Amino acid sequence: MTRFDTKLVHAPAQHDNNTGAVTTPIYKATTFAYPKIGAPVKDDYSRSGNPTRRALEEQLAALEEGTAGFAFSSGMAAIHAALAIFERGDHIIVGKQIYGGTFRLLHQFFERWGLEITAVDTRDLTAVEAAIQPNTKAIYFEPVTNPLLQVTVVRKVATLAHQHHLLTIVDNTFLSPYLLQPLAQGADIVIHSATKYLSGHSDVSAGAVIVKNRELAKRVYFIQNALGSILSPEDSNELARGIKTLSLRLDRQIANVKELINYLRGLSVVEKIYYPGVEGQPGYQELHQEAKGAGSVFSFELTERVDPVKFVNALHLFKLAVSLGAVESLVELPSKMSHAELSEEEQLAAGIKPGLIRMSVGIEDFHDQIADIQQAIAKSRK
Ligand SMILES: *Cc1c(COP(=O)(O)O)cnc(C)c1O
Repeated sequence: MTRFDTKLVHAPAQHDNNTGAVTTPIYKATTFAYPKIGAPVKDDYSRSGNPTRRALEEQLAALEEGTAGFAFSSGMAAIHAALAIFERGDHIIVGKQIYGGTFRLLHQFFERWGLEITAVDTRDLTAVEAAIQPNTKAIYFEPVTNPLLQVTVVRKVATLAHQHHLLTIVDNTFLSPYLLQPLAQGADIVIHSATKYLSGHSDVSAGAVIVKNRELAKRVYFIQNALGSILSPEDSNELARGIKTLSLRLDRQIANVKELINYLRGLSVVEKIYYPGVEGQPGYQELHQEAKGAGSVFSFELTERVDPVKFVNALHLFKLAVSLGAVESLVELPSKMSHAELSEEEQLAAGIKPGLIRMSVGIEDFHDQIADIQQAIAKSRK
């Protein structure tokens, strides 16, 4: 069988052109002619099926070891589609620390449409099992959470879910299929904000849903075609291109994170580091039961002696921005940026202190990344 790094470049095989082009053409056509009435055609209308998007969707399915993949105009559109397979009165158990946009979609949209939701810490299997009701249909979670990088073992949750005939739905944005393949661990549906690692260059908004079997593929395809939040042929092409270097980028990013953590660990002004990818950190054992690494995002807290707002303002190489996983280094303060929607009490309950700093480490030379952190600490000492 072809190995992962080869699949990144060669899945899917070229089969829809006879020009010898080694990449999939961008098919801009919105409609495709029938040879005659009643004749079978592969595509008839671009929302329902587009060859460029299909090539990407086959690539996504191959990388996640799934039966079928579906590409959407954003991660949120993908999550909307995956959850829209449920019905009024269905109950879903969701991870307590899920992405803010997902939290909003669940509580301000899906609840209005009659979905019941219970949030639990999915690291605690007893709590997950206790939340199961007669109308529960699925367990939805992120194996590595944002911004504290708490680890849930997919296999454990999926085993429990199967015992109760529930679907396991995993938002794998934070790890990517290079580091974790949730379907191979027993999950049924995998979701990505492809805006992050998969595209990798902060220039495409996209989402993906990959499913384990034909029955789920039918249900998600129905929603994709009915709701229509598809990925454009141009963005499908850019995303497919980004995917080819996924493992190269991540190898460098992870190596850089390890250098930065090594450096930060030696500083007396660093109070705490959150990153399950290095030994001795919480979640390390759990993560490595099934994943190859923890990705390029890590968080840390500085002691009282450094002003965290001044620190992030003083960074140059690390751009002050939300999002993650791309080639350039980014930094953000969750309390004031990604998690600003939560009240101070809610933030503290979620473990997000005002001074918590989250970095997404890019592929630059780590010496320059360290030098940037060093000068910013010097400028922000009290
Ligand atoms: C960014 C993100 C999303 C939402 O994706 P968009 O592409 O921004 O719509 C969902 N889940 C996680 C874990 C994310 O980081």
